[in-house]
Amino acid sequence: MAYDEPGVGRALERVLFDDYAIRPWYASPYPIDATTLWVCAGCFKYMRSAATYHAHRKACTYTHPPGRRVYQRGAHILWEVDGAEAKLYVQNVCLFGKLFIDHKTVFFDVAPFFVYVLTDATSQFDHALGFFSKEKVSYDDFNLACIVVFPPYQRKGYGTLLMEYSYYLSRSAAVAGTPERPLSELGLKGYMAFWSAQLVRTLQAAWEPGGDAIRAVLAGDAAATRSSTDSSPVRRRTAARGWAGEVRIERPAASGATVPLPPRTTLARLAAAAGLRPDDATLALAQAGLLMADDGVLHISREAVHAAAARLRVRPPILDEAYCR
Ligand SMILES: [Zn+2]
Repeated sequence: MAYDEPGVGRALERVLFDDYAIRPWYASPYPIDATTLWVCAGCFKYMRSAATYHAHRKACTYTHPPGRRVYQRGAHILWEVDGAEAKLYVQNVCLFGKLFIDHKTVFFDVAPFFVYVLTDATSQFDHALGFFSKEKVSYDDFNLACIVVFPPYQRKGYGTLLMEYSYYLSRSAAVAGTPERPLSELGLKGYMAFWSAQLVRTLQAAWEPGGDAIRAVLAGDAAATRSSTDSSPVRRRTAARGWAGEVRIERPAASGATVPLPPRTTLARLAAAAGLRPDDATLALAQAGLLMADDGVLHISREAVHAAAARLRVRPPILDEAYCR
């Protein structure tokens, strides 16, 4: 059962969370009538008075999310919390997250979901920075249901880290994942940056001596290549324009180290090499300025990829898979 109506009574004006006073961006269906809410940064329980909150904080036993560590690098830890095992915690995390997410439904029934909560550790307490939720079983291979970085911690790369981990989970399951739609404006912006960086990094690596696995996928002879969904709407649309998703990779400039690349590949293979869905890869190509077809074939040169990397300020991934467990 889902509920997406605003909370009963007055709109929330202020939420006090982990030493921050935050103004909510959107309504969340908190079943409480108040303009100010205190939310515990340990268990995400919500309270309507400072006295109750302070009494709770003294008694609260949560120093970190109730789950298992799936990633730890320095002070940053990602926790996998099972909605079936920590029902109240996950419900409360989702209610809090909804304050900063547009057009998403908060579900009462959280048992089919995991939430992945990112924390920043001090010696006493792991401060929650944001999270994403994911259906345990998704027949559409959705790797993420909703994502939020709490306002005090935005613009520090944490959203990218969460997206990268959601794709790491898809890759580990050998599927081409994608986030659930619709995406918020902020979400789409984040994904466009992530997808285009992922695509550009893949193309850059294809020309490097160590890019054997990528070249194999581009050549179409990797067993790991997952066949694309030919029914994807973007593919149909591009095909209707006369481009069937064929990509030609130009030979690298004579000066650089020359690695033989398959001269032609397909959009599906390029997407598979980058771990993206073909429709998401098409958006990424457009974002990178590489979606310029000539005679129905895309021509991608090393120079154009490097220019895109510079323009988009593409950096290495934030997630270091060596720290995934
Ligand atoms: Zn608490």
